[in-house]
Amino acid sequence: MKGFNHRLCCVDCSSTREPSVKDLYCEVCGGLFKVEYLDAPDGITPRLPIDDPALSNSLGEGDTPVVLLEKTGELLGLKSLWAKFEFMAPTGSFKDRGSAVLTTIGRDLGVTEFIEDSSGNAGASLSAYAAAAGMKAHVFAPSSAAAGKLDQIQIFGASLHKIDGPRQASTDAAEEFVRERKLCYLSHNLSPYFSEGMKAASYEIVDVLGDDIDHIVLPVGNGSLLIGMVRGYQELLVAGIIAKIPKFHCVQAHAVRPLVAALNGEQWSHLDALPTDASGIAVSKPPRLAEMLEVIKLTGGSAITISEESLSVWQKRLSSSEGLFSEMTSAGAFAGLASLIQSGEIEQDSNVCVPVTGSGLKEPLNQIDD
Ligand SMILES: [Zn+2]
Repeated sequence: MKGFNHRLCCVDCSSTREPSVKDLYCEVCGGLFKVEYLDAPDGITPRLPIDDPALSNSLGEGDTPVVLLEKTGELLGLKSLWAKFEFMAPTGSFKDRGSAVLTTIGRDLGVTEFIEDSSGNAGASLSAYAAAAGMKAHVFAPSSAAAGKLDQIQIFGASLHKIDGPRQASTDAAEEFVRERKLCYLSHNLSPYFSEGMKAASYEIVDVLGDDIDHIVLPVGNGSLLIGMVRGYQELLVAGIIAKIPKFHCVQAHAVRPLVAALNGEQWSHLDALPTDASGIAVSKPPRLAEMLEVIKLTGGSAITISEESLSVWQKRLSSSEGLFSEMTSAGAFAGLASLIQSGEIEQDSNVCVPVTGSGLKEPLNQIDD
């Protein structure tokens, strides 16, 4: 790298250090890092921790469509409902934004082989970007992950390690493998770089809709999209491009709800987690929970749970009425939106945007009776 435009700052004790992809934890207190830039945002393009965006390891991610969902907006009584089609990405999920940044900085800092764990989409995405950068990836994923996602990981040439048990078991196995092999752990959840790629989604929404959006509703597991998008909006606010940040509302399955429980003061532990069809957000111990709570509060947003039944109901409703075939996890955001309107958390006469994070094409279809 030519020189760094950023440093890493511990989210717990604020110690700083020079950029690294290998050291994930603060030497002083063991906390995780976030990226701290040395320059001010210009509000035109998101600040990124890479030297030259033209040389980034890109597969053409970003610039996803922002589409008005007229029928669903009307059904819910909203002034307007917009969907950001994040599944229209090279590997079919929003994760590609983060993978581009993480593999670029990894490549520039000399990483040739790395380990990652994922519920499927992030593993598929990082496998593709590893292939493009000429890196070897080892991906740990639940053996119960959707076949389409596991197929993607393999076709991109990564070594797939299928792990039985809940999502957390894949993380534990990956961490064990990191200790054994002494390879770089390019964890999209622990690394501070992955969520930096998400900031562009906020810039793109503002490009199309200005600051008209009052609420953003999104599915949240490890929180990279939440944290990254709020940071994107913060940059735009600081640069004077927008006058307000939308409220961010997070949707989790009732079966796995660490964030909702923490925000609402409910006693809940990862041992309480149950199986869910919302596999993309089945994260029982999110390492960046404190940051997630911080950014939700900063925007005045909220967090809500949804039922298992509502996932397939909304998946089918969006498909048959809007031509929008999302994965179950992403359909859950709309179920959450309906509940937030019902509870009055989101006023009916407001403008809402929902990032549709993943494609329905990767998952087997649940049979639905109606
Ligand atoms: Zn620290």
